[in-house]
Amino acid sequence: MRNIYGIKRQDLEEYFLSKDLKKYKALQVFEWLYEKKVRSFSEMTNIKKELQEELAKDFTNQFITIVKKQEDKLTKKYLFKLLDDNYIEAVLMEHDYGLSICVSSEVGCNMGCAFCESGRLKKVRNLESYEMVEQILLVENDIKKRISSVVIMGIGEPLDNYDNVLDFIKIINDAKGLAIGARHITLSTCGLIPQIKKLSEEPLQINLAISLHAPNTQLRDKIMPINKAYKLDELIKAIKEYIDKTNRRVTIEYVMLNGVNDNETQAMELAKLLKGMNIYVNLIPYNETSHIDYKRSTSERIKKFYDILIKQGLTATTRKEFGSNIDAACGQLRSKEVKS
Ligand code: SAH
Repeated sequence: MRNIYGIKRQDLEEYFLSKDLKKYKALQVFEWLYEKKVRSFSEMTNIKKELQEELAKDFTNQFITIVKKQEDKLTKKYLFKLLDDNYIEAVLMEHDYGLSICVSSEVGCNMGCAFCESGRLKKVRNLESYEMVEQILLVENDIKKRISSVVIMGIGEPLDNYDNVLDFIKIINDAKGLAIGARHITLSTCGLIPQIKKLSEEPLQINLAISLHAPNTQLRDKIMPINKAYKLDELIKAIKEYIDKTNRRVTIEYVMLNGVNDNETQAMELAKLLKGMNIYVNLIPYNETSHIDYKRSTSERIKKFYDILIKQGLTATTRKEFGSNIDAACGQLRSKEVKS
């Protein structure tokens, strides 16, 4: 049975139409779920009793559960147990502009990036869209505050779970859903080219972030296996096409690995590769983990790398750090409940 929190308003309208009912009922249900936040169909008092019962027969409204929470000053990491006993995580971050949440899109991940802790657990399955929506609903309920932006950068490769992730985005973006503006939603991918093309055709104004991490294909081959399937030059071409088509600026993520991808020649090479594109580079200080040998670039190396990019005319920022004390930083999301 389908879970109601994974249903787009349009699909719910079709459901009501197929029962010879008015489609505005879908709007009413959405208001109950996402504005008034009731948890059962029987509380939807402007919907007739028989219809409430029918809804309860056709849809479940079960929730995943929070099993653990760890916090430091600006970060909270949540561990969730799914209905089939798999575990996933989400991280809440407090910025000066509001609250943002980093959600997971899969149980495990198959992309195998050499430096990423989260990817050490191979993909078990895609998350359903309701499991992504519920990460947000449960955290909002826990903190009793509204979350204003969402990054799909937790465990998993969102474009390897395209349909569910797109449904999720449409539900949270819906003015009668969680009403999170598309410009406040960021999807991060290691670079699945066919899906990037497909995404460029969606009528959505979300932000796209690309995990590039290397200025040339030889190095990218070594640290990101996905580069064997989708080569760097083809990826750059796909990003250019995406920008042309959507008119949106793309974020290039570049994790700073000491002595691996962070020297001055590589900064020049990266600047040359990206010159003239409507992008900005987000330099990410690497979060070290005990299982993986890579080290974080020293702050002098990061500064030098950054200065070169700026001098070459690129726009760049260094990512503000969150949550490294509680293993909630990028690449560290891996449940200790899951055996190594
Ligand atoms: N699969 C998607 C989203 C999840 S990873 C992607 O590849 O973009 C989110 C971001 O964290 C990616 O840019 C990833 O490369 C980066 N990352 C992974 N491990 C990291 C680590 N240990 N320190 C810092 N960033 C890391």
